[in-house]
Amino acid sequence: MPSYEFTCPVCGGFDRWHRMTEVPDSAPCPVCRRQARRRVCGGGLLRSGSAATRLLDATARTASEPPTVSAPPPRRGARVTRNPLHRKLPRY
Ligand SMILES: [Zn+2]
Repeated sequence: MPSYEFTCPVCGGFDRWHRMTEVPDSAPCPVCRRQARRRVCGGGLLRSGSAATRLLDATARTASEPPTVSAPPPRRGARVTRNPLHRKLPRY
């Protein structure tokens, strides 16, 4: 479902998600509830900076730059601490 941009005459722009077949020409402003007109733009399905866009960017980045680790993950149930004093603690 793509997002569409609306412009409130008082508060400015905001985005709303609509089905492509149900896009209204105006929508109530989430702040002042006045009718805001839909902005005509050739935008994509995702706006930059959105959570979906950040996720797609991070996913694409790991394909070419996989994260590197310096050690294997700790054993299941192993204590994760580097403090040497913790070695003296009783183990159960
Ligand atoms: Zn408004």
